[in-house]
Amino acid sequence: MSDQSSSHSPIDILVVDDTPENIRLLSTMLSQAGFYVRKALSGQMALTAVQAQVPNLILLDIMMPDMDGYQVCQQLKTDPLTQAVPVIFLSALNDAFDKVQAFQVGGTDYITKPFQIEEVLARIHHHLALQSAYQEIRQLNTNLEARVQERTQQLESAHAQLLKLVLSDGLTKLPNRAALIEQLDMLLHRASLNPAYRFAVLLLDCDRFKIINDSLGHEAGDQLLIHIAHRLQTLLHPGDMVSRLGGDEFALVLLNLSPEDDGTQFADLVMQAFLAPFTLRDQQIFVNVSVGIVIGDSTYEQPEHILRDTDTAMYYAKAAGKAQYRVFEPAMHDSALRFLQIETDLRRAIQAQEFLLHYQPIVCLSTGQISGLEALIRWQHPKLGMISPNEFIPIAEETGLIQPIGLLVLRQACHQLCDWQKQALVSPDFSMSVNLSACQFAHPNLTEQVYQILQETQLPPHCLKLEITESAIMGNPRSAADVLHNFRRRQIQLSMDDFGTGYSSLSYLHSFPMDNLKIDRSFIQGSTDLGVGNGLVPIIVAIAKTMNMSVIAEGIETQEQLAQLRSLNCDYGQGYLFAKPLEPSQVIDLIASDPRW
Ligand code: C2E
Ligand code: MG
Ligand code: MG
Repeated sequence: MSDQSSSHSPIDILVVDDTPENIRLLSTMLSQAGFYVRKALSGQMALTAVQAQVPNLILLDIMMPDMDGYQVCQQLKTDPLTQAVPVIFLSALNDAFDKVQAFQVGGTDYITKPFQIEEVLARIHHHLALQSAYQEIRQLNTNLEARVQERTQQLESAHAQLLKLVLSDGLTKLPNRAALIEQLDMLLHRASLNPAYRFAVLLLDCDRFKIINDSLGHEAGDQLLIHIAHRLQTLLHPGDMVSRLGGDEFALVLLNLSPEDDGTQFADLVMQAFLAPFTLRDQQIFVNVSVGIVIGDSTYEQPEHILRDTDTAMYYAKAAGKAQYRVFEPAMHDSALRFLQIETDLRRAIQAQEFLLHYQPIVCLSTGQISGLEALIRWQHPKLGMISPNEFIPIAEETGLIQPIGLLVLRQACHQLCDWQKQALVSPDFSMSVNLSACQFAHPNLTEQVYQILQETQLPPHCLKLEITESAIMGNPRSAADVLHNFRRRQIQLSMDDFGTGYSSLSYLHSFPMDNLKIDRSFIQGSTDLGVGNGLVPIIVAIAKTMNMSVIAEGIETQEQLAQLRSLNCDYGQGYLFAKPLEPSQVIDLIASDPRW
């Protein structure tokens, strides 16, 4: 709207009166005062004139034939075009002038006839000023409204963008953990209103993703995650959700479960989808996933509890050998708590010296005498009691604490044997076997650390036997061969531990300089006949011999097993039949009694 009092166009005043005399007089005076004046001799003419051009102000006589001033004013006020035009009524003193009615029909002011021109001009100026002030305010308001609207739009789009950022994963563009929590919150609310409502949450974790990252580089790892995200998306039904929780973890939320569906059907689909390889830079890569499943319903109150339970179930799937799924059961929770407690307490246990070593004799089967010991770590936990290495070593590996713990074992075992040698309690060839975990084996400083400890303790290198599992070697076969050759050169002996439980490939054995092969106790135990032609033991012994390796049978518990292993020419034996892992003082007592089997 333009400013009507602007200096460019003169102010337009419409004078309405049925008396030509009055009109003439008024228009002369107003023209002299600088106004542009139009005239209307009846109400009808006035209405036509305003339609042709909206005036800035109207002077309106009340008493007119046909249509009186009130009616004219009423019509002007109902038309949006003319609504805002100020109307000043003119009325003779003897008119049945009703001031109240003048204002009721929308009049702005009134002037009684006969009028003083000064008064008319003063009122006109006053109302024009008011009018222009109103208009200015209205204009400001419209501008302000437009600006507010614009800002609101900007804010809304910024908010939407922010929300997208906050709730989505930068790499895969999938919803992220925050978005998942929001969704679970909503579903739990739905379940709280309807106890029959169920949904499933599947937590997927890629197995051995670190190896892919380490060998192909992080960029390829990222690409692979994007491929995985796409493949998961193709499995979804409308309304279901897949999100990336970070790293190589994805979560799937399935809605509309049938009453008997526990999410495993879908987990089967996922497993199947991962059977096909992913193609990255013309290379085919196979990825396995471990999946934890939780059925969400009104028994859950918080999304975090659902995620905690999927995590626990997923951990069980991994522990059961990976590439599997597990549905959460409450009993899993207790062991998960124990896992957490062990994880937190491990660090403290090193400082508090809660680890000790037990030693299990290894017997030379041809002489029947103890020829060495295997150092086996024990953890005397102040609250949980004795904890098996089978339980805490995997946790120590995951947290990296296996490094200090492994060195502690190596140092203590070497010191111990050296002590006994100095006291002449054992023969100079007596050996000490120490277990190395896969993580220790992969550590770049391993060889230096071992040499350092041998120097420190002055133990002759040929008395030390390092036990390594197949999987530790297969994790990185090329550098493993280097490490093993280094040890060999220093006359440190090497044993392949738990043979038969891992890759069990005899064919690759020759590429590694192994001195001893330890047959896993699962091959010995429970078998009543280990003789030639029965099972794998005779074959393993025969092949090891052709490769110039000594064979150690683990887990001998009966005289029968001992006799059969002897007849197979197995070199060494270890097991409860001879002795359980013993404390140092018990070891010395046993050796002093010079036992023969
Ligand atoms: P491993 O190296 O194969 O050690 C042999 C395990 O078999 C020991 O279990 C031993 O107590 C058990 N054993 C020996 N003879 C018999 C038998 O006749 N019957 C039965 N049922 N079991 C027998 P332990 O001490 O519980 O150790 C379990 C595993 O923990 C070890 O298996 C080894 O892999 C790991 N471990 C133990 N100490 C260390 C360590 O200092 N460092 C590392 N990295 N791993 C260790
Ligand atoms: Mg061992
Ligand atoms: Mg073993």
